[in-house]
Amino acid sequence: MFDELTLKNIKSSKENIIYRNQAFVNGEYTNSISGKSFPCVSAATGEVLTEVAECDEKDVDIAVQVAREAFDNGSWRSITPAERKQILIKFANLIEENANELGLLETLDVGKPITESINTDVAVAADAIRWSAEAIDKINDEVVPTGPNAVGTITHEPLGVIAAVVPWNYPLFMAAWKIGPILASGNTMILKPAEQSPLTAIRIAELANEAGIPKGVFNVLPGYGETVGQALGRHGDVNGIAFTGSTVVGKLFLKYSAESNMKRVSVECGGKSPIIIMPDADLDAAAETAVWGLFYNQGESCDALSRTLIHESVKDKVLAKMLAIIRAINVGDPLDPSTEFGAIIDQKQFDRVMSYIAIAQQEGAKLILGGNQVKENSGALMIEPTLFDNVNNNMRIAQEEVFGPVGVIITFKDIDEAIAIANDSKYGLVSSVWTKDLSTAFKFKNCIRTGSVWINCHDAGDMTVPFGGFGESGVGRDRSLHSLHKYCELKTTWINLA
Ligand code: NAP
Ligand code: MG
Repeated sequence: MFDELTLKNIKSSKENIIYRNQAFVNGEYTNSISGKSFPCVSAATGEVLTEVAECDEKDVDIAVQVAREAFDNGSWRSITPAERKQILIKFANLIEENANELGLLETLDVGKPITESINTDVAVAADAIRWSAEAIDKINDEVVPTGPNAVGTITHEPLGVIAAVVPWNYPLFMAAWKIGPILASGNTMILKPAEQSPLTAIRIAELANEAGIPKGVFNVLPGYGETVGQALGRHGDVNGIAFTGSTVVGKLFLKYSAESNMKRVSVECGGKSPIIIMPDADLDAAAETAVWGLFYNQGESCDALSRTLIHESVKDKVLAKMLAIIRAINVGDPLDPSTEFGAIIDQKQFDRVMSYIAIAQQEGAKLILGGNQVKENSGALMIEPTLFDNVNNNMRIAQEEVFGPVGVIITFKDIDEAIAIANDSKYGLVSSVWTKDLSTAFKFKNCIRTGSVWINCHDAGDMTVPFGGFGESGVGRDRSLHSLHKYCELKTTWINLA
């Protein structure tokens, strides 16, 4: 690939890159049974990169059968946790060793800045798999207190065959947050990447093989949600669904489970997350976080800080700082290593974001920055970082997830009003509060209904802490030891010694 991250090196690597474009079942690449394929369009350049196997219900049946056999034959769940650990660590190492290629594939596929793809997305993915692997031979099961005439144990067993259905915004690392704990705990799996972003999922299947993951344990089925996703959700021999994506589709998976075999479902869904800036906060740091918490990944983040709540006494000051920071953002070609803000995933999402910009104006919000398409030559569809002022929390622009670079400014009088506004949302993914006062910070922490609360920071933490939301932001958590248990059944054993 390339040693030095320069636009010239990246462009020449792009000319030579090989796009793996098939499904991966039972340790081998294979075409879809129907022979159909769909075009993989680059969000970075607009060109068709390759044609990808379009799997459907028939491919799902085969992949589930293969994953079931691999589960039942014990090649994975019956080896020792320490052996699984070693194989998964090798898998993580191979992801890291191929970081440049995987990062380039990711940027070409979804249009995010290349520097972020390599340094963040790929690095986080490798870390997630390695962390789960490292944990798995250090967790003990339980022996309960009994009298001398009995022994009672509570043990964890893998669920069985798990399907992971993931979105396009962080394709590799959202997948890795599932792969790590699913495989570490001894399950077998089928990964369905989003139709907009199949390339890295397909490529890492080969790396899983190379690492020594037995055939049938890790399978990848590219295709559409309505076909492959739904067939996995409704399959009678799938034991668990690990979903990340929109709230609308998350609810479908709960329905699929109810209408089929009651498989366990965890869904990580959308958000409309607030940042609260109090007058005593470090206003420079708060403004910086308000900007990057919102515009990182072009606003296509589930935990984007899409509602900026500023105390009325410091609003003008904070807003001025935010505008200065936003104007300095390097918006441009996703393949250029100096780019900080890249492309929108596709035309459909572009139209959706633009429609919200129009809706906000119709609702009476005041457009103070951006609002237009960025004109540049890379072939990417891009939208300017966009901010609205004079927003009321009841407006659609403050209630609905845009999933693009659009933020709103809302003012408040005191922490109680800020908490009430922050909680006035069907979502509850994350929140960020900025204050030097411990009692204000803790009051917020105790009252806010979000899965993560960040105090004087945003998106901080690592694999040690769970990630996921309250309310319609989902059910279940990724990351941490809790995510390992999500993919396990609990078994009670009571031994009579009398
Ligand atoms: P999406 O449209 O819900 O798609 C997610 C996955 O579900 C894709 O693989 C998709 O396949 C599949 N799918 C779509 N329709 C389906 C159906 N009828 N039945 C079964 N599967 C179906 O979400 P997205 O647009 O890719 O991603 C954006 C959303 O993800 C946002 O709402 C964002 O907040 C959320 N997200 C949440 C988190 C979190 O951790 N909470 C993290 C990242 C993103 P196809 O696209 O191939 O059709
Ligand atoms: Mg989609």
